Amino acid sequence: MNDTPMTVKCPTCGKSLEWSEKSPYRPFCSKRCQLIDLGEWADEGKRIPSNGELSDSESWGEEEK
Ligand SMILES: [Zn+2]
Repeated sequence: MNDTPMTVKCPTCGKSLEWSEKSPYRPFCSKRCQLIDLGEWADEGKRIPSNGELSDSESWGEEEK
């Protein structure tokens, strides 16, 4: 009886994943979580964009003509 996959929880997001070749980034669930844990997420260039850049024209009520 060795067909029960061992599962672990991703240290970053807590998601359960199978400890096998199906999870190449174990103990992390994904490359993203691995990078976050390693502190390299910021270097990936895929940071979540802030909302501060949206509709900047509307935030400035007075426009000079
Ligand atoms: Zn994760």
